[in-house]
Amino acid sequence: MSNQRWTEVDNYLNKHLVEQDVALLCALNTNADAGLPAIDVSPNQGKLLHIYARMIQARRVLEIGTLGGYSTIWLARALPEDGKVITLEYDERHAEIASQNIRRAGLEDKITIRPGAALDTLPTLHNSEPFDLIFIDADKKNNPAYLEWALRYSRPGTVIIGDNVVRDGAITHPTPQDENIAGICRFIDLIGQNSRLTATALQTVGSKGWDGFIIALVNH
Ligand code: SAM
Repeated sequence: MSNQRWTEVDNYLNKHLVEQDVALLCALNTNADAGLPAIDVSPNQGKLLHIYARMIQARRVLEIGTLGGYSTIWLARALPEDGKVITLEYDERHAEIASQNIRRAGLEDKITIRPGAALDTLPTLHNSEPFDLIFIDADKKNNPAYLEWALRYSRPGTVIIGDNVVRDGAITHPTPQDENIAGICRFIDLIGQNSRLTATALQTVGSKGWDGFIIALVNH
């Protein structure tokens, strides 16, 4: 099947199951108008993150990789009144657009954007309570380091999700030059070997092509 068919099917599923309100639609339009790359999660994936967060009654979420805040909005909307998403973004322009989108969605009290490289901002979170859900979706070469931080900021029951772990199947044909694929392979390996984690991964196809999510639960 082609990307076009996958997109048609995503559109069908979204039409029946995934209602996007003005704030979510505006976020995607604003991102496009501002020239941000369309590498946000798809609507059905955003809703999946939202459902995961609700399933575990998440109150505190950490996101690494904000872009224009599309996934951030889905996640924040899953949280109770006193819930909080801390989202880390390297690119100043992305952070600025995300902040506009978040304000438009009325979620500025629930979401804090920490600008800067995640490996610089992660250590500054050491005084926070553990997170209930951690979504890793930034530069894939640093995924092994992000996993270490995620484990440090977890508690038993925390769910750690990583996006883009399949990358058109490249994980089974890594080339030495591609540090992002190397980062993903090491990330999968580290998760698989960690006795604190119960994990699986799923391949996905859809409007964002052929990719996949990894999901790991911190054991009790
Ligand atoms: N989670 C977003 C969504 O679904 O709407 C998409 C995030 S996009 C795939 C990855 C983002 O990570 C980009 O905005 C990029 O600028 C950011 N990024 C890349 N390297 C980073 C780093 N070292 N620290 C923090 N953010 C980084």
